[in-house]
Amino acid sequence: MPVLPLGRRVDVHVHLSRYWPDLARNSYRSGLDFTVPSLLRELDAQSVGFAVLLQLYLSPSPAEVLREGEEMFTKSGGRLLRTVTVDPTQGEAAVHETLEMWKRARDLVAIKLYPGYRSFYPHDARLHPVYEFAHKAQIPVMIHQGDTLDPNGQLKFARPLEVDEVAVRFRDVRFVLCHLGNPWIEEVAEVVYKNSNVYTDTSGLLANPAVPYFREMMGRAQRRLTNAIAAMGDARRVLYGSDWPLESIETAVGLITGLDLPAEDKELILGENARALFRIDVSD
Ligand SMILES: [Zn+2]
Repeated sequence: MPVLPLGRRVDVHVHLSRYWPDLARNSYRSGLDFTVPSLLRELDAQSVGFAVLLQLYLSPSPAEVLREGEEMFTKSGGRLLRTVTVDPTQGEAAVHETLEMWKRARDLVAIKLYPGYRSFYPHDARLHPVYEFAHKAQIPVMIHQGDTLDPNGQLKFARPLEVDEVAVRFRDVRFVLCHLGNPWIEEVAEVVYKNSNVYTDTSGLLANPAVPYFREMMGRAQRRLTNAIAAMGDARRVLYGSDWPLESIETAVGLITGLDLPAEDKELILGENARALFRIDVSD
């Protein structure tokens, strides 16, 4: 089989884990093959070379988060990039122990936090050592924002405004506000506009393409995204993401390619911004 050059696009937000098997089943894509080859096929079809694989808070231990991430990285030929997660509600000692493990791990590209799902604010002091680690390791902190898939989540922890304080306190750390903060998209635009170390991703904005109003839903998401970019002033800190398996790669890429923006800006969003942020080398 000929080896095809990898696409230059980067998906900054996908999930794949044995600890959340219901993630695929609960979405409209109930028959989805929730495996590395299936994800790579969807990425290839849209010229997406790399994806940031966001580990879940449901993993049984920080060691298992690292092990599973490494397994996916290897199985994907280095295309599914490894991340870690930590839950500060487990206490300071647990956070400390987790950080010690991360120090020994190589090739981490990001830290993901799940306020909203777990009851903590991004400015919880127990997270300060995590932000210091991110600063030293030069990796961004990605934060779930807005609506939670789990109805038992608490939205007050997932508001973009709650990130502003740590964006100011930790100026050398880059933060990514996931899901454009939906429904608080204007709030995300303001926090990104004000803080040069804050980015946002476009994952998870679209539901089942078979719903009767899908076309309108797509148009609305594109208008809201365009308005947010207009509020930010440029597209340099907007990152394409899908939230696979909850959204297909085709739908998520279509959200960006269909925007009424110059082609160069769409390329920034689809890959260039992420390649710089996560320091991904793509050979031409
Ligand atoms: Zn997600």
